[in-house]
Amino acid sequence: MTQVLRTAAELRALPRESLGFVPTMGALHEGHAALLRRSVQENPRTLLSVFVNPTQFGPAEDFSRYPRTFEADLALAEREKVDYLFAPLPEEIYPPGWRTFIEVEKLQEVLCGKYRPGHFRGVATVVHRLFQLVRPHKAYFGQKDLQQCVVLEKMVADLGLPVSIEICPTVREQDGLALSSRNRYLTAEEREQAPVIYRALLAAQEEKEVSLLLARARAMLAQVPAFELQYLEVRSLPNLEEISRVEGRAAIFVAGYFGKTRLIDNRIFKSA
Ligand code: AMP
Repeated sequence: MTQVLRTAAELRALPRESLGFVPTMGALHEGHAALLRRSVQENPRTLLSVFVNPTQFGPAEDFSRYPRTFEADLALAEREKVDYLFAPLPEEIYPPGWRTFIEVEKLQEVLCGKYRPGHFRGVATVVHRLFQLVRPHKAYFGQKDLQQCVVLEKMVADLGLPVSIEICPTVREQDGLALSSRNRYLTAEEREQAPVIYRALLAAQEEKEVSLLLARARAMLAQVPAFELQYLEVRSLPNLEEISRVEGRAAIFVAGYFGKTRLIDNRIFKSA
């Protein structure tokens, strides 16, 4: 049975044995289930959090529209044998008068950060706050949100937080579309077209020269005019610097819209 917890006080009362932690915003799918499965395998206890974090949404973004599916999330947690589901009210995370935020300079400003100002500040702040409340030994994140992983790894390293960040591969539909809570907003036609994003990432794999590689990926994306590209970039890991050749660790990142639905994806290049 998964025990539902609502308050910081209930968290403090948990036994202090080794805890695996999977933070999410709910609307759970098989991508989240993969993180939970890994945590359940690797830790005596697993805690899942479901919290739609207001500070990581911009004023014009989909905070109020974000899907909230608590009963189904609880059922998935039960199915995956998760020990605890922490679903706090915003006041538990941000007590009245909260004024403290975490910023990871540079990394928070590029890629998604350029188009979603304040997003990674909100993410870093909520994850730090959750780490402080949950005190996990290991925390699991999806490569689907690779920039988020990079930002959080830097935060943990800089602040010397006693938690290990575990990054799990992106779970995809059979046609390559990365699972996302936002996929449910796609129309049938958009859903059919959306795998072009992954095809574009694959088209870029064999090329080392970034300008050529981006041209190939862009040509692939151009086959689906309904996809409105926001950015397509190759950057080094873990510093997210612009590069002109793929050498050492690097990834290609893409973001764009089908209608109002924003989708992101990425692929890490195999090291030479
Ligand atoms: P969110 O969907 O924002 O609630 O994400 C919660 C966690 O699940 C984050 O660490 C995401 O990177 C991860 N996640 C979301 N989608 C996927 C996916 N398709 N594959 C693997 N992890 C995912």
